[in-house]
Amino acid sequence: MSIRNEMRLDFPALAENEAFARMAISAFLLPLNPTIEELADVKTAVSEAVTNAIIHGYAGERGTVRMHAYYTDEATLTVDIIDRGCGIADIAHAREPFYTTAPGDERSGMGFTIMESFMDTLRVKSVPGRGTTVTMCRRIRRRA
Ligand code: ATP
Ligand code: MG
Repeated sequence: MSIRNEMRLDFPALAENEAFARMAISAFLLPLNPTIEELADVKTAVSEAVTNAIIHGYAGERGTVRMHAYYTDEATLTVDIIDRGCGIADIAHAREPFYTTAPGDERSGMGFTIMESFMDTLRVKSVPGRGTTVTMCRRIRRRA
């Protein structure tokens, strides 16, 4: 399983960078010739993770979000979304559908559930006070 292509992108935790992150991950994926659906799924998952880093991780404070992505010769994409924000005390609880700590903010608590259903795997590592890393993988179907 050797890495064929890889990128790292650091950007400030600003709402306008959610759209930037979506565009960046689709541009990175294009050489794999993904279907429209594969592309949409990955963009949606990335956008949920980046939104979480900005609004929950940093919660209005300054900070940097890192997107690290790579794919293998077998066309499996891995994306890490990393923040050094407040972290998550109970990860299992946070991953449950409809669980949100920001119910007044039009949040439905479905971000992790969306990431989980649109990607093949989702891993969350977090240390309170230190930050969160969300790692997602998705196999891109090989086409001629
Ligand atoms: P929605 O994504 O539907 O708008 P939400 O963001 O609250 O709502 P999830 O994305 O599933 O729902 O996240 C659940 C909870 O996990 C959040 O309410 C927040 O408490 C916590 N959380 C998620 N990501 C982070 C993060 N990067 N840093 C700190 N807390 C986080
Ligand atoms: Mg969310």
